[in-house]
Amino acid sequence: MVSLIEERDKMTKKNVVASNTKSAINMAITVAAAAANSSLFTMAALKPPVAPGSFFTILQRKLIQNLEINGAARVNAWVDSMRASSPTHVKSTTPSLSEDQSSWILRHPSALEMFEQITNASKGKQIVMFLDYDGTLSPIVEDPDRAYMSDAMRTTVRKLARYFPTAIVSGRCRDKVYSFVQLAELYYAGSHGMDIKGPSKGPKDKNDAQSVLFQPASEFVPMIDKVYKALFDETKSIPGANVEHNKFCLSVHYRRVDEKKWSELAQLVKSVLKEYPKLRLTQGRKVFEIRPTIKWDKGKALEFLLESLGYANCIDVFPVYIGDDRTDEDAFKVLRDRGQGFGILVSKIPKDTNASYCLQEPSEVMNFLQRLVQWKKMSLQRQGKKLSLR
Ligand SMILES: [Mg+2]
Repeated sequence: MVSLIEERDKMTKKNVVASNTKSAINMAITVAAAAANSSLFTMAALKPPVAPGSFFTILQRKLIQNLEINGAARVNAWVDSMRASSPTHVKSTTPSLSEDQSSWILRHPSALEMFEQITNASKGKQIVMFLDYDGTLSPIVEDPDRAYMSDAMRTTVRKLARYFPTAIVSGRCRDKVYSFVQLAELYYAGSHGMDIKGPSKGPKDKNDAQSVLFQPASEFVPMIDKVYKALFDETKSIPGANVEHNKFCLSVHYRRVDEKKWSELAQLVKSVLKEYPKLRLTQGRKVFEIRPTIKWDKGKALEFLLESLGYANCIDVFPVYIGDDRTDEDAFKVLRDRGQGFGILVSKIPKDTNASYCLQEPSEVMNFLQRLVQWKKMSLQRQGKKLSLR
């Protein structure tokens, strides 16, 4: 494995100077991976069938564009987009949902139903697991500070990490997500991948700082602190609004804000961010995400971790990324572009996505992970038996 410091320096240079080179490398990997897999389903699994559907896509794209603070943002568009992110509104304004839903499910089948085909496609390759936290391992809850994962899920992820390198990739502050997951053997990428740390050597690991792999947005910390204070003060007047400090980025949660106040909240956030053109705003599930405008996201974090693990130009790797949010799309897109592994979207409703498969909720995610562990255990046992028969 290449040294982590070398990896970090390489990634920094690439990120700043040569992102086009990286695309070229990715394209080469895509072609090589496609050529190496000739069975009909493998091709389908690696290169899922159809581009994202037209299901409320154009409307949403326009609304999201309007959210960009550097563009001609309009508060009404913000509020429309905030509504569009709420499943109840999607249902009430889309009469032919069931028809759209079934065509969407055909394009993004359940990862549980396709389990056998998925594991077949991974044969001979090293599976690497990437898991978002909120809405993927833990249910979405009213109070983001209480988004606990169940003991059963923790046990499942612990077992998973015994068989496959496993990383948690979250928008949350790394320390916060670690306090929820509490598994030292995993990789953690907090702040939308802007704060990456490798596994701790043990509970009494004194060299914690050495396992920090990459923090590309360190210079933004003072600015993020300042904006946090401003947003905290400004949004005090909105009952239920909650500003979360994620170290290198911020989240403004409005899940508990009365819908009548959404427009006011959007205006407040916009007025604060007007002063900070180096920060960008995107929208998640009832949350505004505020991040530095550096070219770094969950997709870049996934690529960085694959390189750190020694799979930079390797075609024998099968990354699986499971997530429920718009910010996870960057990682789904990386996998689609690389033609390696696949993304799984956690959602009960059709969404414009680059993921190949879907799971409805965290309980299905747990089921999928448990099956993966079982499958790996069985295949190792079979291999052991074959060897002992020789
Ligand atoms: Mg999430």
